[in-house]
Amino acid sequence: MISPIRKRLLAKAKRSVIKVGSAVITSSDGLNMEVIGAIASDICGLLEERREVILVSSGAIASGLRRMGLTKKPESTSQKQALAAIGQSLLMKAYEEAFGLYGRKVAQVLLTRDDLSNRKRYLNARNTLLTLLAWKIVPVINENDTVSIDEIKFGDNDNLSAMVTNLTDADLLLSLTSTDGLYDKDPNLHKDACLIAIVKGADKDVLQFAGTAGRMGTGGMAAKVMAARKVALAGVPTVIANGTASGMIKRVFEGMETGTLFVPNETALCGRKHWIAFTKSPRGDVMIDRGAAIAVVEKGKSLLPSGIIEVKGRFSQGDSVNVLGPDGKAIAMGMVNYHSGEIRKIAGARSSEIESRLGFRHDDEVIHRDNLVLMTELEEEEGQCR
Ligand code: GLU
Repeated sequence: MISPIRKRLLAKAKRSVIKVGSAVITSSDGLNMEVIGAIASDICGLLEERREVILVSSGAIASGLRRMGLTKKPESTSQKQALAAIGQSLLMKAYEEAFGLYGRKVAQVLLTRDDLSNRKRYLNARNTLLTLLAWKIVPVINENDTVSIDEIKFGDNDNLSAMVTNLTDADLLLSLTSTDGLYDKDPNLHKDACLIAIVKGADKDVLQFAGTAGRMGTGGMAAKVMAARKVALAGVPTVIANGTASGMIKRVFEGMETGTLFVPNETALCGRKHWIAFTKSPRGDVMIDRGAAIAVVEKGKSLLPSGIIEVKGRFSQGDSVNVLGPDGKAIAMGMVNYHSGEIRKIAGARSSEIESRLGFRHDDEVIHRDNLVLMTELEEEEGQCR
């Protein structure tokens, strides 16, 4: 059945990020060429309609595992990384072949969280992806598992696909998984579980339905819902659907009632605020007094040195920090104009005293308003660029 709201949203999706989970494209024998072929066929159909597609594909570790004759993911991180290195070339070979049948080319793009939390590298990655799209090539993105360890890891490709959706200003995130979408209960345990067809504004309450990760993937439904929430905050819809069903991408784009649709918020965080909130991991805390908290939260002001009471952690200029109110609760996140040592020296000072305390002055503000995202903007999903 065609749903009018889906049809309308999907018609607007000129640029889409399609995320494919390991469980969709691998079977007990390794990469499932039939499923990969069906995905390539549907995506090539979208390209014919002059749509642009960026593929985020897992499956490197799973195919490395099969290649090495293993049945279970090893515990050790370095072994998983080694398997990803073995499997990644097989994964690309499979996509090369599948898209090649339609005369289409693909390009491998490996990213880490660090790449997107540095503004310059973020823009470089964006430029590369946009150039590939302009050349009508399908970027196939995966996390750069060789160098990705805790600090710089996206954690799962669901998170990565949300970042890429924002990075490329895509109009849709389609997350293909091995279940039919988001259920109100775990369908593996409850026969009466119902598929949720539509979620408004990636409502936080739906997280309770999301359960945990599957055997092959890392993220599970919870990570998919979190990803949908991130892109909803940027004003973009997500569809979670079953990628093992042949022709699913085509059906989703036709506006068929299938999987779960996350309708975006009406207002959206602008790219820069979204980047601060979701791409940069906070490196420390800056605690501010009541007056400064009111100025920041209620009056939409920048954070000046005078309101700062305490600085926790070591961070550099340009890093992201949590801004805590006098009760220790986080009220905002922001990108600092000074490093932690400098902020300690100017804490409590008037802006006019910055130069005498530091011997120089870049800016009057410790965090400029444009680089500050309020927790209420995130939690109540009322974010908008001021
Ligand atoms: N990058 C990993 C792979 O390709 C998967 C990460 C995930 O499952 O989300 O196997």
